[in-house]
Amino acid sequence: MSTISDEAGRQPIGLTAPSGIDRAAHHRLDEAWLAAAWSHPSTRVFVVSGGQVLIDDTPDGRTELVMTPSFEAPLTETHRYFLGTDEAGVSYFALQKDSLPGRMDQSARAAGLREAGLLLGDRDAGLMVHAVALENWQRMHRFCSRCGERTVIAAAGHIRRCQACGAEHYPRTDPAVIMLVTDDQDRVLLGRQVHWPEGRFSTLAGFVEPGESIEQAVAREVQEEAGLAVGKVEYLASQPWPFPSSLMLGFFARATSTEIQVDGDEIEEARWFSRAELRAAFASGEVLPPFGISIASRLIEIWYGEPLPTR
Ligand SMILES: [Zn+2]
Repeated sequence: MSTISDEAGRQPIGLTAPSGIDRAAHHRLDEAWLAAAWSHPSTRVFVVSGGQVLIDDTPDGRTELVMTPSFEAPLTETHRYFLGTDEAGVSYFALQKDSLPGRMDQSARAAGLREAGLLLGDRDAGLMVHAVALENWQRMHRFCSRCGERTVIAAAGHIRRCQACGAEHYPRTDPAVIMLVTDDQDRVLLGRQVHWPEGRFSTLAGFVEPGESIEQAVAREVQEEAGLAVGKVEYLASQPWPFPSSLMLGFFARATSTEIQVDGDEIEEARWFSRAELRAAFASGEVLPPFGISIASRLIEIWYGEPLPTR
């Protein structure tokens, strides 16, 4: 894997590594090519349903998407997403179904992206995040935003077309910023959202608003949520976050003021921590170590300078 934090021996940032899949977008409108690719014996197909897929453990201890040749796949023409091809020329499709297929073998299990993203290799994680993002977008764009009529799927899952007015609708990705804020003593700012369980602290985050740059969004969110001004903003990495359609843009931001005033609306509490203070808070259980595939964990870990304690 080639991710930003590898060289420091840290955990890689989930869902950011190259998947090795060429999305081959030029084939999406070529029905003859798609039909041939679909029926080719090397083609691999998996089902996505409600953000979940089937995953299975291999004898050598890895976890993979459960994929089948297309002739074993459940029959559906209308909800077939072409995801791309790999170096060996294998084509990958996802089928959107109302439920996951039943499995005879006991080890296969349903998993969402938060779980599977931690377990799958880069190729399968990349295929899954593509399929889940398309499914979420399809589900929420069944009607034309221009005229209100029903839309139909096109371009192997990557367009919805309105047959009444001819409008073509493309998948949406909503940019969100997530930032690790430090002060001039290199302390880190961590906040608690109102609905989070006790002990859970993380970085601040928020959506980019219309007509706003991402740098402006970082500054506005930190001001709104914690009452702090920020100066230098440094981009780290982005992470697809299809819950339902975000792209997380990760930043380091340096605060130019230190007096916290939380909004009390989204953020209930925010605190500055030195590394020693955070280490002590992890040890006492006052702060729970962040975990999961979110880029937030990695932002904190990079600042912390060593692997975070595990839960
Ligand atoms: Zn329309």
